[in-house]
Amino acid sequence: MKKPKGRTIRSDLFEKLHDDIVISVLCKLSSTANSPSDFIAVLLTCKRLNKLGLHPLVLSKSCSKTFAIRAKNWSPEAHRFLKLSVSAGNTEAYYILGMIRFYCLQNRGSGASLLAKAAIRSHAPALYSLALIQFNGSGGLKNDKDVSAGVALCARAAFLGHIDALRELGHCFQDGYGVPKNISEGRRLLVQANARELASVLCVFHNHHQPPPLFINSSRTRNQTDFVSDSEFWLFNNDYGFNLTGREIHPANKFMVEWFGLGEDGNSGPGNLDPGLRMCSYVGCGRPETRKNEFRRCSGCGKVNYCSRGCQAHDWRVHHKVECAPMEQWMGHAIDDVEEANHMNEEDVDVMDDQTVEIEEN
Ligand SMILES: [Zn+2]
Ligand SMILES: [Zn+2]
Repeated sequence: MKKPKGRTIRSDLFEKLHDDIVISVLCKLSSTANSPSDFIAVLLTCKRLNKLGLHPLVLSKSCSKTFAIRAKNWSPEAHRFLKLSVSAGNTEAYYILGMIRFYCLQNRGSGASLLAKAAIRSHAPALYSLALIQFNGSGGLKNDKDVSAGVALCARAAFLGHIDALRELGHCFQDGYGVPKNISEGRRLLVQANARELASVLCVFHNHHQPPPLFINSSRTRNQTDFVSDSEFWLFNNDYGFNLTGREIHPANKFMVEWFGLGEDGNSGPGNLDPGLRMCSYVGCGRPETRKNEFRRCSGCGKVNYCSRGCQAHDWRVHHKVECAPMEQWMGHAIDDVEEANHMNEEDVDVMDDQTVEIEEN
């Protein structure tokens, strides 16, 4: 091209940057992105960034939020992006694509295999999800349940700090489900799960520079200062005395919720559940049944179903507690037998673990 007279061509500093430097910047971006668009916007900038952005080193470093694809945006390209990230050895991609294939695309073999690959790399949510698949016999028949395998997977996930796995394990010990019954060990694990959950939720609010929402169950209200200065620490209360709603939901669960249910825009997702199959009633889970009556239902009202104790405990705290069992039933109890009702209240105060209504097999 002819050089224009009287003007000098500005050199392109970006072109002079060595590939290694660009890849290192892109690695930092993909590992800290807050959404897929943060990363994809860069890929669309130019051919060079597109090529280097899909470099295995960059894809291997991507964090879970980079893969937080919306169900309504699911496409062959999105699938390809996850497959490329799997090929690059990204453990989060193994997990998210595994969950999508197992539950949404109903490609159970491939999904379970990806989850197993993530589990081998000590990915705690993958270990926990495989445990639930074993506990529920998901993708197979009722007789395919392998409770002992579920307990072993749960124990591994709990050891890695997975709170729901710890809670599930506590209930297994309490009930003698897949392990020899040990009530005191079960209670110890449940208290530990509550303590860890409280710490993690307070941490989320601290990171967002917000005070935690304290909706006190009793008639008197307290402010945050009361909570901090109060020597009566509510760790041992079944729900800490307030609703914990600040839990961060994993992108895989958000995807499933949107796939089978309603997205944030109120439109229904692309997935269809076969007739007779139900979703887990906890809104932050998104797991569907893979066969009829796979999930256990709340014995209090019989209207809600859960894939696990963890989901039941969360739903109880944030939602179901005020809905479970018809109000008239409780009112009737109060009128018929005041003493009995008082006794129940006393017990509630003393309870140290999840005082949720049992869930029962269908
Ligand atoms: Zn669930
Ligand atoms: Zn209920």
